[in-house]
Amino acid sequence: MDKQQEFVLRTLEERDIRFVRLWFTDVLGYLKSVAVAPAELEQAFDEGIGFDGSAIEGFARVYESDMIAKPDPGTFQVLPWRAEAPGTARMFCDILMPDGSPSYADPRYVLKRALAKTSDLGFTFYTHPEIEFYLLKDKPLDGGRPTPADNSGYFDHTPQNVGMDFRRQAITMLESMGISVEFSHHEGAPGQQEIDLRYADALSTADNIMTFRLVMKQVALEQGVHATFMPKPFSEYPGSGMHSHLSLFEGDRNAFYESGSEFQLSKVGRSFIAGLLRHAGEISAVTNQWVNSYKRIWGGSQRTAGAGGEAPSYICWGHNNRSALIRVPMYKPGKTGSTRIEVRSLDSGANPYLSYAVLLAAGMKGIQEGYELPAGADDDVWALTDAERRALGIEPLPQNLGEAITLMERSELVAETLGEHVFDFFLRNKKQEWEEYRSQVTPFELMKNLPVL
Ligand code: GLU
Ligand code: MG
Ligand code: MG
Repeated sequence: MDKQQEFVLRTLEERDIRFVRLWFTDVLGYLKSVAVAPAELEQAFDEGIGFDGSAIEGFARVYESDMIAKPDPGTFQVLPWRAEAPGTARMFCDILMPDGSPSYADPRYVLKRALAKTSDLGFTFYTHPEIEFYLLKDKPLDGGRPTPADNSGYFDHTPQNVGMDFRRQAITMLESMGISVEFSHHEGAPGQQEIDLRYADALSTADNIMTFRLVMKQVALEQGVHATFMPKPFSEYPGSGMHSHLSLFEGDRNAFYESGSEFQLSKVGRSFIAGLLRHAGEISAVTNQWVNSYKRIWGGSQRTAGAGGEAPSYICWGHNNRSALIRVPMYKPGKTGSTRIEVRSLDSGANPYLSYAVLLAAGMKGIQEGYELPAGADDDVWALTDAERRALGIEPLPQNLGEAITLMERSELVAETLGEHVFDFFLRNKKQEWEEYRSQVTPFELMKNLPVL
């Protein structure tokens, strides 16, 4: 038994933990959990715990349903919420096949595989997400309009602001689980919050995002509100993005940094951005995986009345340009390690493991093939006409899930990164969602057509 495993077993005893939850994530990004008694753990560390994978989205077909969850002791945390006495803890798991090989259906493995390829080339991948979400008064189950939990706006700090208390309790809980928060504030719309996590290696970040969503829902419940990560719950307010800052390190040197070059961006950094841009369309179905995701990206004029709320619609990059898909934030003089790029397409309803895997693969492809970075966009790209954008070579992101699926289907990069099983399952599932949506007659059509046609 290694040191981490010993630490877990000792802590269970010392803190009188009676339940251990083994967590993993399905292909669509939903958190799953199996509880085991502490007495089972030693064996779980050795051999894993068997479970029926056929009940989990994307995991297995009925005739090959035996799966094994093997806890990762490095992710052990005691769950801090009150309702959990006697003590409960959790660990993230790797999913294995009955013969002990990694399951190709496990999103965590998809990311680990992409990270291993990158580390073979000498790089470590770091990410830091800015997670936006809404607090609602209730959760309408009938498809009706939700009500935001408060009426505040960007950076508002008012006593009757539900979000303030909420954020204080939520951040305390995250920190007690070892998840550092860098920044938090009320976002632009009523009920909308943003919490930014400190940067970490991409696997830890993805685990942290899964934990984050559960913690937010838990704290919301305790405060009598409801937290949602739906990308665009209101047509008239901005959606919830999960902008992510990405960087590559070679040892302890930031590989995106080069002193004296434009925006302090190295050649590696420029090619990485070029890769993200060239493959932006085909990875979109992963980073923006719901029908609703495209309502955020295309939801109304991005510039007026905040309905679009600075979500990117066009494939371009810019220095400090919030209308661009990729932004190179202001360089902090003297901080040689802080060069990074911000990808603004990702939304809060994404599977973080699969999303970071495809973003990394796209960027690495740019580095390996030496892609040239096209000219940056200085203008507000939403304000340009279609003809002006065309003249600048700026293409739109997919306009809906259907377009995104078509692009993904033809993508060798995404097929290779997700692996055949996840790639096929994902496409099948998303096609079904798109077809169901396409066949709906919506209130919009009824309102527009019925009175006059
Ligand atoms: N809510 C916006 C989005 O959907 C982002 C606003 C911001 O710049 O933080 O991406
Ligand atoms: Mg924000
Ligand atoms: Mg941002």
